Amino acid sequence: MTYSKMLSLRFPPSAVNEPIIANLIRKFDLNCNILKAIIYPRKEGMAVIEVSGHRKNFRKGLHYLRGQGIKVESIGEDIKRDEEKCFQCGACTAVCPTGALHIQRPAMEVIFQKDRCSACELCVVACPARAMEVRFNRSLVE
Ligand code: SF4
Ligand code: SF4
Repeated sequence: MTYSKMLSLRFPPSAVNEPIIANLIRKFDLNCNILKAIIYPRKEGMAVIEVSGHRKNFRKGLHYLRGQGIKVESIGEDIKRDEEKCFQCGACTAVCPTGALHIQRPAMEVIFQKDRCSACELCVVACPARAMEVRFNRSLVE
């Protein structure tokens, strides 16, 4: 049975230079779509990935990630935009990895398409008006 999940991975500095995602694909036969990957100044990293594959492989892959000291969370979808606060500046569209926030031409309107949102929270930090709100429903993956 194919299984698919949006995951947030937090890498310790020791794992940042390891070919973790390549191993998930090669060793565990999983499909990984990297939506965002960042390395922070103190050398920790984070990535938002969509993983799919056989459930058994998914579990093995998860076990491998934890063995590398990576914190794995599944991502919920409780993000909303406060339309009163949003002043359509477009800053969020530059950071949104999924295209959920995008500019619609020719009106140049900033659209929030909730069904494409992975709840990665990158727009929350980027928005100068604090219009993007997250309900915290991350959960550790079983
Ligand atoms: S949380 Fe924000 S940046 Fe992340 S996918 Fe959703 S709309 Fe885009
Ligand atoms: S960054 Fe904030 S204010 Fe600007 S368009 Fe996006 S949600 Fe609206």
